[in-house]
Amino acid sequence: MIQREQYAYSGYQLFWEALDWLFPPTCSGCGVPGVRWCNHCESKLNLLPDLVCDCCGIPAEGNEQCDECSNNPPSFSSIRSQYSYEGEIREALHALKYKNDLGIGEILASKSTNFLQKLGWKIDLIVPVPLGRARLKERGYNQAAMIAYPIALKSRIPYHSRILKRSRETISQVDLSAENRKVNVKDAFHADTNMVEGRSVLVVDDIITTGATMEESARALKAAGATSIYGLSVARAMLVHRYT
Ligand SMILES: [Zn+2]
Ligand SMILES: [Zn+2]
Repeated sequence: MIQREQYAYSGYQLFWEALDWLFPPTCSGCGVPGVRWCNHCESKLNLLPDLVCDCCGIPAEGNEQCDECSNNPPSFSSIRSQYSYEGEIREALHALKYKNDLGIGEILASKSTNFLQKLGWKIDLIVPVPLGRARLKERGYNQAAMIAYPIALKSRIPYHSRILKRSRETISQVDLSAENRKVNVKDAFHADTNMVEGRSVLVVDDIITTGATMEESARALKAAGATSIYGLSVARAMLVHRYT
């Protein structure tokens, strides 16, 4: 079984390498030709600090819970992001989300898989943050799934794209304040009890900002019986807003 799953990830990588050969890529960060992601962009990435709130992942004095999480415990056990959402990683995630640049998903997922392994979470299954039907139809793909699926393959953890669903359409969170983000995604998800009851679930997204989407996803999973919920994203945008 393990061999077959390893083979599945190699196959996924080979698929993208074959596409690179057929359609030579350009770097998703800076546009240099020949590679999907160049060494220069790699060297510019900003990792988030190690000392973060154990729960919501925002920088903190120690690895304990911040006041916000202590006073209002969220539905998830822990959420983490690897990079600060700025510069080259922002370009790459923008290309994945808005320019059909799907190949960068596999590269970002590979980084996220290594990051996830270090976190040591016990996870039974992986789900992407779902898009609403209208958004999925318009874009043609779910950018969170383009990261979640290869993470699952590489980590050898079952992947399910349909057990967490949107109950209703929501507008883009991009220009909303923290408070309006909460209102926008309130009760926007539901989860399949048969698939999540008694399980530990990892929810994957491309970007986390305030964590409102993760909280609502976790709430739906918890209501469906999940024992613990974790959240992972490639980048965290809130830091940019906090310090600028
Ligand atoms: Zn580059
Ligand atoms: Zn916190």
